[in-house]
Amino acid sequence: MKTPFVTAEQLRSIAERYPTPFHIYDEKGIRENARRLKRAFAWNPGFREYFAVKATPTPKILKLLHEEGCGLDCSSLTELMLAKGCGVRGEDVMFSSNDTPAEEFEMAARMGAIINLDDITHVDFLKNTLGYVPQKISCRFNPGGMFTVGKSHEDFQVMDNPGDAKYGMTRSQIGQAFCRLKELGAQEFGIHAFLASNTLSNEYYPTLARILFQLAVELKEETGCRITFINLSGGIGIPYRPEEPAGDIDLIGEGVRRAYEELLVPAGMGDVALCTELGRFMLGPYGHLVTTAVHEKHTYKDYVGVDACAVNLMRPAMYGAYHHITVMGKEQLPCDHKYDVVGSLCENNDKFAIDRMLPKVDLGDLLVIHDTGAHGFSMGYNYNGKLRSAELLLREDGSVELIRRAETPDDYFATVVW
Ligand SMILES: *Cc1c(COP(=O)(O)O)cnc(C)c1O
Repeated sequence: MKTPFVTAEQLRSIAERYPTPFHIYDEKGIRENARRLKRAFAWNPGFREYFAVKATPTPKILKLLHEEGCGLDCSSLTELMLAKGCGVRGEDVMFSSNDTPAEEFEMAARMGAIINLDDITHVDFLKNTLGYVPQKISCRFNPGGMFTVGKSHEDFQVMDNPGDAKYGMTRSQIGQAFCRLKELGAQEFGIHAFLASNTLSNEYYPTLARILFQLAVELKEETGCRITFINLSGGIGIPYRPEEPAGDIDLIGEGVRRAYEELLVPAGMGDVALCTELGRFMLGPYGHLVTTAVHEKHTYKDYVGVDACAVNLMRPAMYGAYHHITVMGKEQLPCDHKYDVVGSLCENNDKFAIDRMLPKVDLGDLLVIHDTGAHGFSMGYNYNGKLRSAELLLREDGSVELIRRAETPDDYFATVVW
């Protein structure tokens, strides 16, 4: 069973102050989870999580994670500006982008961010853009082929197999890139790979770690480069469905430690720092999209129309993703009604749930759509002239803070030329 982090009563009073729909985040849950991750990797003294900003690009959230010791992983100019605006800079910023515009490399270099190169041609592109290459630099590896460890069905849509994915360098390219970077003056090297998204198996990170640790040992030998960090990137999943078991971060950390001791330590690389760029794992479960039932419709099926729509949460429409729904105040009632829960877009995929068993929904009921803390608000858009919602933060002391106001029509029209 999935339990919301707010009670029905709490939510009623919040909704009186802030009209639905809105996203609300749980400070306590976010902090506790960040600490669990840190503990699971505490055996690696250099360990650092760089939160994937694209998952939840909201300054109060980014600052909160920074307070917990996280850096930020950015992949665009505005994400770099967000980091800067939050007072995060230097090596607290990882810049993992692809198809990168020159001005973004310039900005990342100005901020002193660690740049993670996606392609071998970016080595000289970076040199020509900056006039130098940074002394600390990372390259993204793509082993090609198939990778199936820990992949969920839905994930096959979120991310292709490595052999079909646009990211990263081949095995021979990464060796050449290291040599060229060294020739251009780089001194400290990192490697990175991201092979699967939303994995539920505790084996994903350890398997990826083995691939990268083996590669690090080979590259050290082959190129003589000093490899000081290895980036396991994102991809640890969360159980969106109530029956799915959650991953065990302690077991995951332990699995990576075993690989580290088997592969890196014997190669004299026992001082390599590990980093991660988790998004979903850090925030997913700690966000709810809160919406009100505003219509019901009974035709060939039974529909509940809510005041949120796919622009507030795109994953169900885009990937057919499951998001659990709790009808607030009716947690104890039997789920004996079958509904499609829909938004108002003129798109038939604007459905938060299809054939979902719920208690009888009455107009005015508040619905919590679970696990929207990552890749939720951030994937929002303005189709059909719909406006992005507000974001709220439930503080540890129970108070609620507005951390992003809802868009108004003025925001929507700000860019048009009449
Ligand atoms: C999206 C992304 C992440 C975060 O992925 P999650 O699945 O949310 O953990 C990390 N690194 C890079 C480069 C990404 O593009």
